Amino acid sequence: PGVLYLCATPIGNLEDMTYRAVRILGEVPMIAAEDTRHTRQLLTHFDIHTKLTSYHEHNKMEKGQELIDWMLEGNDLACVSDAGLPGIADPGSMLAQQAIEAGIRVIPLPGANAALSALISSGLDTTRFSFVGFLPKTKQKRKERLDEVKNHRETLLFYEAPHHLKATMDELFDALGDRPAVLARELTKKFEEFSRGTLGTLRPSVSGIEPRGEYVIVVSGKTEENEETQTAKASPAELVEKYIE
Ligand code: SAM
Repeated sequence: PGVLYLCATPIGNLEDMTYRAVRILGEVPMIAAEDTRHTRQLLTHFDIHTKLTSYHEHNKMEKGQELIDWMLEGNDLACVSDAGLPGIADPGSMLAQQAIEAGIRVIPLPGANAALSALISSGLDTTRFSFVGFLPKTKQKRKERLDEVKNHRETLLFYEAPHHLKATMDELFDALGDRPAVLARELTKKFEEFSRGTLGTLRPSVSGIEPRGEYVIVVSGKTEENEETQTAKASPAELVEKYIE
């Protein structure tokens, strides 16, 4: 059979494309992309003219099998998402599982990832962390997920869309208390920014910021120091430290 390449793409800055990704994406006969128009733009930038086919949340059932059959016929396939690592809060993990079951070799092409980039520059503990990603949609499930992680000792990594940031930060504060936290915004882009403070001070409802762009929320795990503050009230917004690049 052919092989399945899971290929990272930039999360903003096109210079984060790897040499290897450019080579492999140019060599494979087909690329499965979350959004073919979006990926076409990226490929054009690197002068890559490989055929694209769509593979996303809504067609992954039928399309997955089709792609597996294509690889079983001896063709290589690269899978990309709109940004960062496929399979991380993006399509790709199911295809990898199906490929492995079918005896197809799965090769990762590492590169940009928002959560880990936020973590390493956050200043919070990087030795142990939990990637939580997007919280579930329903209120009940969100609560369950937060109950699950609130006693974790590891640093917590969340993804959120800008229009939900305000509500989600309030929810995190209510569930986890006033812990050290970092908002990593627009990573690798022109307006990259790290706001370091606590869940209480960084909340848009307290800081007054109007969320724009993409955010990763990095939150300290439960420690002896922040244990007592789990139900404490927010400290003043002036405590927010901002480092603007
Ligand atoms: N597969 C991607 C990865 O490896 O990081 C994640 C894709 S997920 C659909 C999109 C979410 O990732 C955004 O809502 C945001 O939370 C985060 N994200 C993606 N790019 C980002 C960036 N440049 N800066 C900050 N957060 C980003």
